[in-house]
Amino acid sequence: MALEEKREKRPPVTPMMIEEEAALRNGSRGLPSGSWAEAAGPRPRTTERHIAVHKRLVLGFAVSILALLAVTMIAVLLSVRFEECGAAAGPPRAGGNGSLSGAARQPPGARQPPGRPEEKEEARGGEAAAEEKEEEEEEEEWQRRREPPPWARPRLPRHLRPLHYNLMLSAFMENFTFSGEVNVQLEVRNASRYIVLHAHRMHIEAVRVAEDKLAGGVRVARSFLYPQTQVFVVVLNRSLEVQRSYNLKIIYNALIENELLGFFRSSYVLHGERRFLGVTQFSPTHARKAFPCFDEPIYKATFKISIRHQATYLSLSNMPVETSVFEEDGWVTDHFSQTPLMSTYYLAWAVCNFTYRETVTKSGVAVRLYARPDAIRRGSGDYALNITRRLIEFYEDYFKVPYSLPKLDLLAVPKHPYAAMENWGLSVFVEQRILLDPSISSISYLLDVTMVIVHELCHQWFGDLVTPVWWEDVWLKEGFAHYFEFVGTDYLYPGWNMEKQRFLTDVLHEVMLLDGLASSHPVSQEVQQATDIDRVFDWIAYKKGAALIRMLANFMGHSVFQMGLQDYLTIHKYGNAARNDLWNTLSKALKRVGKSVNIQEVMDQWTLQMGYPVITILGNETTDNVIVISQVRFVYDSDAKPKDPTLGDNSYLWQIPLTIAVGNTSHISSEAIIWVSNKSEHHRIPALEEANWLLGNINQTGYFRVNYDIRNWRLLINQLTRNHEVISVSNRAGLIDDAFNLARAGYLPQNIPLEIITYLSEEKDFLPWHAASRALYPLDKLLDRMENYNIFNEYILRQVASMYLKLGWPMNNLNKSLVQASYQHEELRREVIMLACSFGNKHCHQQAATLISDWISSNRNRIPLNVRDIVYCTGVSLMDEDVWEFIWMKFHSTTAVSEKKILLEALTCSDDRNLLNRLLNLSLNSEVVLDQDAIDVIIHVARNPHGRDLAWKFFREKWKILNARYGEALFMNSKLISGVTEFLNTEEELRELKNFIKSYEEGAAVSFSRAVETVEANVRWQRLYKEELFQWLRKSLTH
Ligand SMILES: [Zn+2]
Repeated sequence: MALEEKREKRPPVTPMMIEEEAALRNGSRGLPSGSWAEAAGPRPRTTERHIAVHKRLVLGFAVSILALLAVTMIAVLLSVRFEECGAAAGPPRAGGNGSLSGAARQPPGARQPPGRPEEKEEARGGEAAAEEKEEEEEEEEWQRRREPPPWARPRLPRHLRPLHYNLMLSAFMENFTFSGEVNVQLEVRNASRYIVLHAHRMHIEAVRVAEDKLAGGVRVARSFLYPQTQVFVVVLNRSLEVQRSYNLKIIYNALIENELLGFFRSSYVLHGERRFLGVTQFSPTHARKAFPCFDEPIYKATFKISIRHQATYLSLSNMPVETSVFEEDGWVTDHFSQTPLMSTYYLAWAVCNFTYRETVTKSGVAVRLYARPDAIRRGSGDYALNITRRLIEFYEDYFKVPYSLPKLDLLAVPKHPYAAMENWGLSVFVEQRILLDPSISSISYLLDVTMVIVHELCHQWFGDLVTPVWWEDVWLKEGFAHYFEFVGTDYLYPGWNMEKQRFLTDVLHEVMLLDGLASSHPVSQEVQQATDIDRVFDWIAYKKGAALIRMLANFMGHSVFQMGLQDYLTIHKYGNAARNDLWNTLSKALKRVGKSVNIQEVMDQWTLQMGYPVITILGNETTDNVIVISQVRFVYDSDAKPKDPTLGDNSYLWQIPLTIAVGNTSHISSEAIIWVSNKSEHHRIPALEEANWLLGNINQTGYFRVNYDIRNWRLLINQLTRNHEVISVSNRAGLIDDAFNLARAGYLPQNIPLEIITYLSEEKDFLPWHAASRALYPLDKLLDRMENYNIFNEYILRQVASMYLKLGWPMNNLNKSLVQASYQHEELRREVIMLACSFGNKHCHQQAATLISDWISSNRNRIPLNVRDIVYCTGVSLMDEDVWEFIWMKFHSTTAVSEKKILLEALTCSDDRNLLNRLLNLSLNSEVVLDQDAIDVIIHVARNPHGRDLAWKFFREKWKILNARYGEALFMNSKLISGVTEFLNTEEELRELKNFIKSYEEGAAVSFSRAVETVEANVRWQRLYKEELFQWLRKSLTH
């Protein structure tokens, strides 16, 4: 039976698939422009605005009475205000296509981005014509200067800096609109007539500029939104003067959108009644949709926020509420304390009717978890709340920098574009990643929840407190948060060894697959346009970032590394830092302990070059005790052309901290570190005897692969078979992963990895099994449609059989102490059961069938939580259509999110092509399958050898629909493309792929070039190595 049908249905352990979650965008983003009318809600009620304007007038009038002279000035001011806003003021245009941005004028020649409705020009008098002329002259002036005007550049001009924002919002939850008034205190660095700041998809009602603390405005000549760069431009009659400070006031309104970015809405059902909430997601470039601001991370400022809302709701923001002012009409305004200096994308607020539970850390930080009232009552947030308190204490101790705000709220929302977002003091989580009911949660679910929380809390320091200067170094915060997921989880569960073990399979091995393609990219990658910024949030940033940080921590030594981080956070707190700031601080920390490594020089090679090296260690037969170490860039397909032709593979060089040890049957030496920086080097290894083996990259702390001469591989295999414990658990896993991937890329004979795994029958640790299972997976996919597949299948079954017998099946009721004590054991058992059922172990099949039959006949699900996905999938693939229908029915009736997902994925395990086709077609019906789950359905059908061609055909036929739905969510789209294509492996399929790309060239180019490279490598492997593998297998099975 084919492997993938019964494989883990999710890529193994998903807690870090933040990027994937990042793409869970609402489908409406891809709507054709005509649908905008529906997406756009009603306008803000004009009465509300009139009341607000009226209040201001009354106040202004009272002041003017007291200071008689000011009357005329106010009159002047008001006239200026209405004059300057002539174009933008007036009631928002009713009906039409619903674009708020349409209400502000654009400069001549500005085109609407695709999908946005055309603007209507209002008929205006001679004044307007004069203004237009002025604009044209200005455009010409910029053209003469041969530079784009300041608003047309991808980055904000640098002449202004915001110091402080006062933001007053009114949220109208009954019609999903909000209005705001922002006052920005500006510092002028260079004189200029222009104010350019971000604002997108909003209606600007009024704008005013005044010299700070002085009455007296600076007259606004004109102002306009410029959607191409998502900015709002204020052109002044005279220049702002250097080193003076000014106040910019903007009054605006916008929609509380039904998409998951900016200030958006979401809903849930309580006691049969639908309730709404409004919440924000500003990272990376969406604060500009909620208020006009300098929306680049470098513009840190302080913020004072007030939110006015109906008293039936509560409001939350980064800081605690200072005062609440109640009005008679049932409205309330919450005034929040002022924030410290921070970047706009970490700002957040919410308007909801959630309830909460609270705890307080030793240092006095109040931690609250807010969620829908029924979840709070059930205690579903208690686990998260409890570990959050402990983790804040952990990080405060580790970084020696206290948590910076008086409180931290965790907000569990039903829908969110990311798994979670680390807004400072108000972190937002999607419910599945924070709510947990211990009685129905598997270990992997608990691990998911734990690691997401550890990740977001790390960001309160790496991100919120010290923020990367620009998005090219997003890995500086994401790599750290991802690395600390493992370190922090080790603090909570010391026996789990996450950083030393699980990190390898889930991060290092995982990302080396991706980064081994010639079409990869460096971990630091340049971006300018707002629309490109999403692209940097990918696995390379998260996982390679984390792997490089782990390598760094190991060659520095953990305690020096920790000291360096403490210095880095202390020096740069409340500010921004670039990678060189980190390297400098770490180099200084090393110097203090008497070591000298130029960290910047070393790390630049790892962060600015894509890919990674494979080191080859060869025993030198002519000279005793001398070995030859060489490095070359590892690529799966050596025929693949590098993306940048100026960078031939030969020019890739790294400074590699290679740790190395010598072993014999019962002993391994302590490790020595050798810095390898040339293509090839000779090194003397003391006490190297004939029967000794060499082992490189001790505990796999380095981000590279190691290859040896065959004699050394043989010695290592013997060692594993005789006494594997001489070699550490992490190196056992590392040897397996390296061997399979070296063979796949043609650096090593195909039989070596298959020989290595024969020792697994004695392996009692989870990690090597996990590594083997993951490494076998792509090999299985290369073979699963071959005639001779059963030879491979048979071989794997033999390796698994005895451990399967030894471990047996889990009992149904996992109690809590079991979760704590035997995570390794339970995960090992799960892994072995998965392999056994996948490759067709008869007992495993019977057991799965019995459990399913029992469920159907008793209608009680007694299947152990940790293996449910395996049992469902095996049942569907083995048993008749009735089982498929039963699972389908359960998928509809269950409300538990995690259960729903594994039921849906089990449906893709069928051998019946009609059922698979039916499922594919149903997957696009949003009523039946959530948009974000449809992708998983298609990918899982593609993993099934009986469905691969169906999914591939379906993908091509529905590409237009799929691309419209997910096109803007880059990560989602690239996941779909790679998921459907990665296991295509025939010449015919490669041709189909190339032809398909030719006819649909637009968009997703990066993903498609990666897909072509992967399929080319698959085809190449088939051509060159398949026969070699089968020959060896045949021989081995007859012995
Ligand atoms: Zn993160």
